[in-house]
Parts: sequence; structure tokens; C-alpha cells
Amino acid sequence: MKVFKFGGASVKDAAGVRNVAEVLKHFALDDLLIVVSAMGKTTNALEEVVWAYADGRDALPKVAELEQQHFAVLKEVAPDDDTARAALEEQFHALRFQLTIPVILDVDHYYDQFVAFGELWSTIIVSAYLNAAGIANKWVDARRIITTDDRHRAANVKWDALEENTNLPSFDEHPHRILTQGFIGSTEDGHTTTLGREGSDFSAAIFAYMLDAESVTIWKDVPGMFNADPNRFADTKLLEHISYKEAIELSYFGASVIHPRTLQPLQRKHIPLYVRSFIDLAAPGSTISEATDHDTLIPSFIVKPGQLLISITPRDLSFIVEENLGDIFKLFAKRNVRIDLMQNSAVAFTVAVEDTPRSRSLIEELRKEYEVLYNEGCELLTVRHFDEPTLARLTEGKRILIEQRSRATARYVTKAL
Ligand code: ASP
Ligand code: MG
Repeated sequence: MKVFKFGGASVKDAAGVRNVAEVLKHFALDDLLIVVSAMGKTTNALEEVVWAYADGRDALPKVAELEQQHFAVLKEVAPDDDTARAALEEQFHALRFQLTIPVILDVDHYYDQFVAFGELWSTIIVSAYLNAAGIANKWVDARRIITTDDRHRAANVKWDALEENTNLPSFDEHPHRILTQGFIGSTEDGHTTTLGREGSDFSAAIFAYMLDAESVTIWKDVPGMFNADPNRFADTKLLEHISYKEAIELSYFGASVIHPRTLQPLQRKHIPLYVRSFIDLAAPGSTISEATDHDTLIPSFIVKPGQLLISITPRDLSFIVEENLGDIFKLFAKRNVRIDLMQNSAVAFTVAVEDTPRSRSLIEELRKEYEVLYNEGCELLTVRHFDEPTLARLTEGKRILIEQRSRATARYVTKAL
């Protein structure tokens, strides 16, 4: 069997939902597990619902807006499906009910309970449309299959529990197509969890791993993985065939085409990943698999704007040693702030992180123990397989605050001059 994943952009409206059927018809595949994200920007809208709820503001207008949008799409693509309409109504009812529960737990817990609705809504609609279009499929609740720990908003998958899971309908029964949600899972005691923003790719890989899939295809609005963001740079090149290792490095450093956690489960089971365009079905896309001779070693570069460069110094002017590094790392882990780059000297430990409310409040916490200085508005540039002309071109007109090089990768923290 194969796994297909459709992201939010591919199902952003009724035309998008219909196009999913076009893709499926084009390949005429049985034995398929289809993973679908929330429609368009639904997850962002649900985040606003969460923040409103947490602050005690009225979240209902936003919910009503989402409800109207989803019902409009359902009405367009599957007007006669009363079961789907009832299922969608029930999910909106469940969200409204959850909004009446007083906030007593950490907000991340509620975040997962609320934000998961985006995926539930979209899959109800897509499943109904595909059934109406003659592509029989069974809707499955991913939370019954993907068990995680309770680290809300960035849950860790319990791989052992997956091996024992018997809830996945078998591909021996009809229909041979399963349609399910990306991004969401559940703790052992039944609380919804999420795998981190853009986590649906990772879900597709988890299902592929469990089912020993033949391949995973991620359908995107771009025709594959490029050596740099085509929206930002001219003359970018499609990476037609790259190894898992190379793709892991690129996505880890911030290439946003695939979620960084997606590749490891696939690599472990030697399952190839195809990244293809849902707009141009004839385009070849990118293949990510074992290393081959064609592994593209042209310079690839990734720019992450909006970085904070934070420098942390012990207040008593003692040296930075393992003990305080241990404390510092624990704080980053506890606050779920990812370190994008680090460097240490005798008296300072310096890190680049994304500038978010979480990293700002981490700075406040660090200041209880350390002297903390930071530089905002920085950019993190990563260049794989660099050459000097490329580095010169990319750093031109920028002030370099940090430079690090290893054999295959050059990294810079820069600021506009
Ligand atoms: N809907 C979720 C998000 O937008 C998950 C995903 O799209 O992969 O982050
Ligand atoms: Mg999305």
C-alpha cells in the first residue's frame, strides 16, 4: 500500500477538495492511506480561538466564521451527504462545548483539544466528497491509532504502542482506501495531542512506518524540493533525487518543504518519499531515498529570518561550564524553545532561536540567574555544500555576527547593515 498526504493548501476550498479526487483518479490506486491536513489557514484561526479562550475573550465569532466556511465547502462538494453534515455539526457542537469548560490546566493542553478540530472537519468533508465521486474510502480517527506522550503541542510518538495497535482497519476489507487526519494523536488516557505545526507530513510517515508502505507522496503547491526557496531567490534548482540524510539536514535547518521529523521513520524502513505538485501532475517532483550517485551536491541554502541571538553569561563572571550549560539546556527544553545554532566561549554561551513570545519569556527566566543580552532581527543562513562564491554572494551587505563551518555546512547569523 501507499501513503498520500495532502496539506492545507491543497484542500483550501471546494476546488482544492475536488482536485484531490483528480489526483487519486490519475493514479487509480487502491490500497491507499490518505492523510489530510486542516483546510487552508484553519489551524491559524483555531490558534486564535485558543488564545481568546485562554484570555477569557469571546471566541464564538471566530468559531461561527469557521463553521460557515466549512459548511459552505461541504454544501458545494457533497450537498446530499446527510451523514457528513451531521458529523460536521457534531464536531462544531463539541468545540463549542469545550469552550465552556473553565481553564484550569496548562493552555497547551487546551490548544491540542481545540486545534485538532481543523483536521477532523477537513477529513469529514474530503471523505464525503471522495465517496460521492466514486472513490470509496473509510474515514478513520487518527487519534485511535497514533499514541503519544502528553507533551502537548509537540507530542512524542509511542512507537511501541503503534506496533501493538489493532485499531487500524485492514486493507483486506473493502474499501481499500483509508482517509485520516495528519497532525493529531492521543495520549493513552484519551486526551488529544498534536505533533507540532505542519506535523501532517510526520503523520504520513508514522502511518507508512506502521503499515510498511511502499512509498509516501506529499502533494504540495510547489513542484518538489529546491536548493533554495524559489520565492526568495532566482535561479533555484529542483533537487530531483536526494538522500534521506541530505533531506533531513535541509529540513532540520529550516527548508520548510517537509517537516523535519518526517524522514527518520521512512529511512528506518527504506520507504521512499516523493514530493510532488498537486497542480502539475506530470511534473516529476523530488525523490528522497537512500543515497545514490545522483545525490545532488550543489549548494543548497536556507534563510531563517526573525531570529534572536542570545548571549548568556554567569552573573558572577565565572566560566561557562558543563554545570550551567546543563541548567540552561533544561530551561530551553522545559519551555520548548529550539536552539537553531549555538556557540560558547569561556564566559558566554550564545544561541540563535526563533523570536517568539516563548523565547522572550525564556529570556526573562534566564535573567534570574544569568546576565542575558540579545540582538533581535537577525537572520540565520545555512548553506550545504558551499563554495566561496555562493557564500560571498549570500552574505554580501550583511553584518556577520557568527560564522560556523564544518566540511559540508556553513552557517551564519547575520544582521542587515
Ligand atoms: N494543520 C496543521 C498546521 O497547519 C498541520 C499541518 O498542516 O501539517 O500546522
Ligand atoms: Mg496546515
